Amino acid sequence: MSIIDGFMQMRVEENRLEKLRQKLKPADLRGEKKCVMCGFCCHRRTCIPTPEELKKIAEFLNLTPKKLINKFFAIDRQWLGKDYYVKPLSENILDLAGKFIPNDRTFNEGKCVFLDENNKCKIYPVRPKTAQIQKCWEEDEEDKENVIDSWKDNVLEKEFGIKVNEYEEENE
Ligand code: SF4
Ligand code: SF4
Repeated sequence: MSIIDGFMQMRVEENRLEKLRQKLKPADLRGEKKCVMCGFCCHRRTCIPTPEELKKIAEFLNLTPKKLINKFFAIDRQWLGKDYYVKPLSENILDLAGKFIPNDRTFNEGKCVFLDENNKCKIYPVRPKTAQIQKCWEEDEEDKENVIDSWKDNVLEKEFGIKVNEYEEENE
């Protein structure tokens, strides 16, 4: 994907999100400093579990962690980062279950697969800490860094038996 295509895709996603934000009216838009449980964060970007949280979600859904990843999660890594982590699928990348998200799909998001029609989380009792501490009125990048750290040293393969092939889509 060219830089211009990537930029255009990012703009489309930003426009989609801004319209949704106006509709759902999250706390920051209302000028509040308390979560109003509007669900906008789960439409914007899915949360990231630690490996331990992933195991709890698997238990909650009565699946093995590997089956859980292959059914409901996609694999990602930070820009120029080397540690793979998983995050719940969003509705526009359901075909990437258990696969690495290629660059040209990074902004092709949509709501989380675990978000119901009333904007409530279907795995609420075991939702990751990154979801529990969401504060749209504050920056949360530091928490994201911390959770990605928990996936370092190839935990994905060593603990859950998931071997990543980043370029499987292109090679098929
Ligand atoms: S933290 Fe998320 S769910 Fe809570 S008000 Fe903000 S956008 Fe909505
Ligand atoms: S798992 Fe739950 S809290 Fe996390 S993004 Fe999905 S709906 Fe939101």
